[in-house]
Amino acid sequence: MNVFLDFFRQKVPKSGGETPFYYQQSVKLNDWMLAIYFIVSCFALSAAMGKFCWPPAVFLAVLLLKYYFSPKLSVRLNLLLCALLISAWCSWYVLTFGWDLGGQHLLIVLIVLVFFCLYEPPLTKLSYFLLILAMRLMLFNYSNTHAPRVPVQGLYAFLLQAVNSASMFLILAGCCIVYSSNLQETERLLLLHNEQLQVQAETDPLTKLVNRRGLIDIMSRFVRKNPEALYCVAIADIDFFKNVNDTYGHNCGDYTLQKLSSLFLEFSQGQYSVGRWGGEEFCFFFPDVNIDDASLIMNDLMLVVRKMELEYEGHPFRITLTVGIEENDYRSPLKELIESADRKLYHGKQNGRDQIVF
Ligand code: GH3
Ligand code: MG
Ligand code: MG
Repeated sequence: MNVFLDFFRQKVPKSGGETPFYYQQSVKLNDWMLAIYFIVSCFALSAAMGKFCWPPAVFLAVLLLKYYFSPKLSVRLNLLLCALLISAWCSWYVLTFGWDLGGQHLLIVLIVLVFFCLYEPPLTKLSYFLLILAMRLMLFNYSNTHAPRVPVQGLYAFLLQAVNSASMFLILAGCCIVYSSNLQETERLLLLHNEQLQVQAETDPLTKLVNRRGLIDIMSRFVRKNPEALYCVAIADIDFFKNVNDTYGHNCGDYTLQKLSSLFLEFSQGQYSVGRWGGEEFCFFFPDVNIDDASLIMNDLMLVVRKMELEYEGHPFRITLTVGIEENDYRSPLKELIESADRKLYHGKQNGRDQIVF
């Protein structure tokens, strides 16, 4: 019993926000188009029969009732009512007027609704599809073995077939437009979101430089693409940075890291990459540059840093860098070159700091 109740309680996904769910839209559109179809059918059938044909008016009334309550109904209950209404319509149509007028066409719309509106596993959807197919075959069999109760021929038969075919095509096209445009929009937002996540994952939030992951990505991509290329890596570490934190506070340390990072970016002018390696360490990647040129660039940078006047809450101070630099030797993997640059940095620290070791 609970399984049965749960089945009908499947919640309608909330529309709006970043992911517009197309369910409500498609159900509304479908109901509106069905309503127009019932009205047109009422007139066409009345004209064909020579008297007022009331069943389409009853179907229209039931549909409007369902439309009124549909925002409050669960997805499955909504679809079940829709399926019952369409099945009843197709059965009444074929039983009354026979197969040739195309009253059964509307069953095809049901397939689209079932496949796009329900969050079900494909096998379950397939079983609904088989039910719809069975119903169509049963109607076909009935119309083959029974004469229509109200035979319609000639121009009216053509007119009614045209109404049924055109309505089915229009309702199908309407549903497909809603589904496809919403799916494409969702896909676009998803790709955009993924791109933003990728940038976030590779950016250091404090300094806005690429982080270690991002820089490794840049370096590995370059090495993969240019296995024969020359390149250099340098690791720079702020000297006695702990003193900055201890003397002026952690916020001042953060401010210093941000100032230095802006300077690094400005100085690089997009010619090479620089990222925050961790803490107060930065890594530089010089593609297609030999160690002499890379050392010159780093020397100039160290000079600018040495001269940089920092001030935090009225306290002026300066910082210096120690740098270890290494060139691609065409034997060692990137990881070993970085480790080698790091060892050189350590020697620089041991030898008195504020220097470059190559
Ligand atoms: P050395 O010259 O040997 O490199 O000395 P140091 O003081 O720079 O090195 P140490 O490793 O002793 O201290 C590094 C300090 O950097 C300690 C840590 O609190 C600080 N630090 C690391 N990351 C951050 C950060 O994001 N913000 C701030 N404010 N400080 C940081
Ligand atoms: Mg340091
Ligand atoms: Mg350090």
